Amino acid sequence: MAQKILVISGDGIGPEIMAEAMKVLDVLQRDGLTLERGEALLGGCAVDATGEPYPEATKKKALAADAVLLGAVGGPKWDVLPREQRPEKGLLGIRKSLGLFANLRPAVVYPQLAEASTLKPEIVAGLDILIVRELTGDIYFGEPRGIETRDIDGTTQRVGVNTMIYSESEIRRIAKVAFEAAQRRSQRVCSVDKMNVLETTQLWRDVFTEEAQHYPNVQLSHMLVDNAAMQLVRNPKQFDVLATGNIFGDILSDEASMLTGSIGMLPSASLDENGKGLYEPCHGSAPDIAGQNIANPLAMILSTAMLLRYSLKNEAAARRVETAVMEVLDRGLRTPDIWKEGMQKVSTKEMGDAVVQALARQA
Ligand code: NAD
Repeated sequence: MAQKILVISGDGIGPEIMAEAMKVLDVLQRDGLTLERGEALLGGCAVDATGEPYPEATKKKALAADAVLLGAVGGPKWDVLPREQRPEKGLLGIRKSLGLFANLRPAVVYPQLAEASTLKPEIVAGLDILIVRELTGDIYFGEPRGIETRDIDGTTQRVGVNTMIYSESEIRRIAKVAFEAAQRRSQRVCSVDKMNVLETTQLWRDVFTEEAQHYPNVQLSHMLVDNAAMQLVRNPKQFDVLATGNIFGDILSDEASMLTGSIGMLPSASLDENGKGLYEPCHGSAPDIAGQNIANPLAMILSTAMLLRYSLKNEAAARRVETAVMEVLDRGLRTPDIWKEGMQKVSTKEMGDAVVQALARQA
């Protein structure tokens, strides 16, 4: 039976970059990939059409699909709406309804783009790490929470309260995702915690250590989060898979993405317990350049490669797409965001066409 994907272009540059990802899927389908593609609205365009950022029809299709490919949502036009109708609400809604708990963000520095990083090229050239972040637990969601009034040393004061909490099962399921991802890569997981101070993360470390028994070919190491933040800028190439909880992952994944220096190159995946996922570029809808045919479509195309790898379990097709992207970079083609002197400046469409040609040459 053909696998079903739901395509959501969204707002701003979303439709432009998605059109290029669709050309890539066209080639793969011509070469034998069987796939059913549906379409749906999310974000600002959904508000315009239906009054809702995450319409019921989109939810139905998303739940029925094997994977969802998303461009980007949002823009100034909708920022004035009540919070419930904002495009971002649609994004949170779809993530929640699909039960996505694992966020995978690769930070890859293509040797051709090493100079775009703010770090020295020799520190980042060839970098290829994967941050696996837990998305649904931790201090972001723990109860009790809030700002309350307490009597402290005889004075009444406001007190801010948040609760860091992880259950064993929540840790175990994210550990599995990290170990399985490492099996497809260099077989190394570094689990990041703060076990010297926080009991929650002592449990995190214990459960990762237990779960590692089931993956004898994967080497597990542990690192405290403050050291991990430092090591990411000192010697990032020491890492393969870096696994961590929600709050530490929030910070470390942004730090890691900046090592690459080019937001238009960064894909991401968010997965549920069964490998179903939502795949999207790390960047937003870039309203400042929308409609100009200058957005970089490579993060979108690389998100499509992640969809092929993690939800459709088609490693060969994923590699084909990634190799084609490498080839166009080798040829010196650059959209304006990654362009430098001596390179050939191309539009969104020309970049997509070049990836398609590179794919066709592989067949
Ligand atoms: P942004 O990522 O859209 O843009 C930041 C900067 O990077 C801009 O200068 C933009 O032109 C540039 N940029 C982003 N993607 C690019 C690409 N593919 N090629 C070339 N340049 C690119 O972030 P922002 O400006 O803070 O947000 C704009 C809108 O996107 C907001 O409405 C925000 O809420 C929304 N947003 C959506 C998502 C999402 O859909 N997942 C994520 C972040 C922001």
